[in-house]
Amino acid sequence: MRLDKLLAESGYGSRSEVKKLIKKGKVAVNGEIVKSPSINVDPERDEVTVDGEPVYYQKDYYLILNKPAGYVTTTADRDMSVMELVSDIPRFDEKLFPVGRLDKDAEGLLFITSDGELAHRLTHPKWKVPKVYYVEVEGKLTEAKIEPLKKGIDLGDFVARPAKVKILKAEEGRSAAEIEINEGKYHQVKRMFEKIGHPVLYLKRVKFGNLELGELPLGEYRNLTEEELRKLK
Ligand code: URA
Repeated sequence: MRLDKLLAESGYGSRSEVKKLIKKGKVAVNGEIVKSPSINVDPERDEVTVDGEPVYYQKDYYLILNKPAGYVTTTADRDMSVMELVSDIPRFDEKLFPVGRLDKDAEGLLFITSDGELAHRLTHPKWKVPKVYYVEVEGKLTEAKIEPLKKGIDLGDFVARPAKVKILKAEEGRSAAEIEINEGKYHQVKRMFEKIGHPVLYLKRVKFGNLELGELPLGEYRNLTEEELRKLK
């Protein structure tokens, strides 16, 4: 592919901006400064640097977003879609898939990718991708109260598989817990806690498979590291 295209698609600016970078002699291919934006490079084989720093070209996007409440998990072009929060990526016009829904009022880790095959695989029930949620619920949780969640709870239209649950705080008015499930039915976590008499007041996904939200600020996104991607695939 053309050098200017590779740089623009890797986030170094528009085509005309990257052409200026090249003309200024800031770009090298395999150690040699190049001045022509139209030369052909192979992102897999050639080492391209800008100011000596290697350019990391990804064919597909693999992003983690810390979704704030108020945004809808949809690819559709509508107001308050999570896609608005990643719209500054260089190739936003490519198809992107949010993997695994989060409710409008929920926060936390949302994996977004342009790799349709991976998105499809990760959402398939067969793979049982573990998801961890931090929840705050009404009332005081006790070990006895959460026992049905650990055993597998009947929610009417389906029986939720046994979950891992840990109480983090238990007070009269409000408690906090962490729950790990490997299914992803609609409103599943909310329905599980509702069923044991502790409606969810706040819900945040903190892990999805091997991916962790960590300290990523609310409303921001980052690229997966190479190691995260390798483990996920
Ligand atoms: N469970 C829910 O109830 N809501 C979510 O957004 C995710 C899991």
